[in-house]
Amino acid sequence: MRKKIIAGNWKMNKTVDDAIDLSSSIMRDYADCTGVDIVLCPPFTAIKSISDVVSDSQIQIGAQNMYYEDSGAFTGEISAPMLKDLFVKYVIIGHSERRELLKENDAIINKKVTKALEKKLVPILCVGETLTERESDFTKDVVGKQLEKGLLNISPENYSDLVIAYEPVWAIGTGKTATADQAQDVHKFIRDEIERFAGNAAASSVRIQYGGSMKPNNAKELLSQPDIDGGLIGGAALDPQSFGLIIDAAKNI
Ligand code: PEP
Repeated sequence: MRKKIIAGNWKMNKTVDDAIDLSSSIMRDYADCTGVDIVLCPPFTAIKSISDVVSDSQIQIGAQNMYYEDSGAFTGEISAPMLKDLFVKYVIIGHSERRELLKENDAIINKKVTKALEKKLVPILCVGETLTERESDFTKDVVGKQLEKGLLNISPENYSDLVIAYEPVWAIGTGKTATADQAQDVHKFIRDEIERFAGNAAASSVRIQYGGSMKPNNAKELLSQPDIDGGLIGGAALDPQSFGLIIDAAKNI
């Protein structure tokens, strides 16, 4: 049985005070939640404060990115040991906004996944196709390549410690959601691919989240699909009530 995981990607939103308010609201209802893994991914500037808010609770902290070296002359970057120092457990890697705006490629993403695992952080590796790629029927080619390259040389026993987020780029922040059937189809493909290159145990233990305009009104149907193990939530994670309703949907499946 794979435990559902609901993660909020706050992106470049929330000052420290706003982030404390948001995490405190989530804490009120979900501090003791054990049925679902809840992860908050604030901007770097708020991680320390949020770590303090959620300490002694079931809620975990994630970062939105990290660099693949431990330290050195890498202006503006943040390393895995720095994240560990702040009690971060998860790290989003290869989000489509970084792939597109910051030109992160699969080789860089693979180095980050490798480093995260080495430092005992749980990588949330994001993959997904653009609208043009979907309309040209290239979804599985694109997602398959992102997976194979992003996970290059990752050993099969590490798959229970990593999360894949399938995020169709056309559904992120657009209000357009993949239908439950479309999402399940790609999630099943991802699991089959992982079985092909890492074996059955890796494929059945890896958790695959869906991300792309997941909201309270579509969460239950998406999260009920056999290969959808959670959600990576952008916009709806900024509102404690909406985020809570998505957690409830995951809890009640
Ligand atoms: C995301 O950025 O990971 C995301 C899924 O955003 P949204 O929920 O706003 O589409």
